[in-house]
Amino acid sequence: MKTNDCYICKKGKDSQNHILFECIWVQEYWKEVEKKMNIQFKHQNEWREGKWLLEAEMYDKNSGESLNAFIANSLWLFWKNMCRVKYGERSWRIHTIYNKALNDTIDYHC
Ligand SMILES: [Zn+2]
Repeated sequence: MKTNDCYICKKGKDSQNHILFECIWVQEYWKEVEKKMNIQFKHQNEWREGKWLLEAEMYDKNSGESLNAFIANSLWLFWKNMCRVKYGERSWRIHTIYNKALNDTIDYHC
């Protein structure tokens, strides 16, 4: 493993863009979110800089604000997870991050 490889997938570069949007693991996560929440992100082919995330609320006008909070929580957890792995802890599973992000969003809005 080269020093600049992603700690999660061991392939991509360890960059902000990769960790938050481009990593295959992160893409897998958002596909799962689409399935579970029955939503669809608009720009599925534009992972770079998360432009597609900004369009998400269009599909869910009523809970757009909650969805944005959920997305922000998810990004924070991706970062946290990368740090965990970097320092020798085991990576969280996709559903673990999903549940954590969801709980944090509910806490924030109550
Ligand atoms: Zn990666």
